[in-house]
Amino acid sequence: MKLNERGLLIVLSGPSGVGKGTVRKALFEMEGHDLVYSTSMTTRPPREGEVDGVDYYFVSKEEFEDRIKNDAFLEWAQFVGHYYGTPRDKVEEQLKLGKEVVLEIEVQGALQVREKTSDAVFVFIAPPNKESLYRRLLRRGTEANEVIQKRMDKAQREFPLAHKYDYIVVNDEVTNAADRIMAIIRAEHAKTERSIHKYNQLLEVLEDE
Ligand code: 5GP
Repeated sequence: MKLNERGLLIVLSGPSGVGKGTVRKALFEMEGHDLVYSTSMTTRPPREGEVDGVDYYFVSKEEFEDRIKNDAFLEWAQFVGHYYGTPRDKVEEQLKLGKEVVLEIEVQGALQVREKTSDAVFVFIAPPNKESLYRRLLRRGTEANEVIQKRMDKAQREFPLAHKYDYIVVNDEVTNAADRIMAIIRAEHAKTERSIHKYNQLLEVLEDE
């Protein structure tokens, strides 16, 4: 029966430097879930240790632009000089298989998904304060000061957009944030509109007995 049910699309988003990637990894390390991560495509060069096909699919600007023309992305955005996008076919394939698909994307992309889909769950990951955001971007140590400043400016503009999301999770502590997201996913499954058909099936069986 599970195979016929469409999976849940979960969009984790928020400003760069908020720790989305770390929280997402902690979420996937938790036991007893059926989550699938949607690997994004980007034109940003790989950072040290990043693996093609795992962290991102790293492609050229030309290849990315071709895919935009072919409508191959569920969403895409330009972020600090590079393209980032979610390959549509993979997400669709997994959702059809009944999987829970997690996107970890920046705010503009999340808002595009919001416009296109009616049943995804949107979680805004917020920093406990502005200083922690700055410290995290500095600590990453992979970007020039100018890029860090651009990321900070963008983050400032993105905070007010949190109200467009279904949930806000403050990343005060990574494991707490991951726990809260897992609780949200479980609660979403129990929502009446998602589970009423199962309940109706149960009622039918009980009535037949
Ligand atoms: P980074 O360069 O630090 O890996 O990512 C920069 C920003 O792009 C982060 O906020 C990250 O979540 C976001 N991002 C990663 N993949 C995607 C994607 O497929 N679409 C969009 N819109 N943003 C993405």
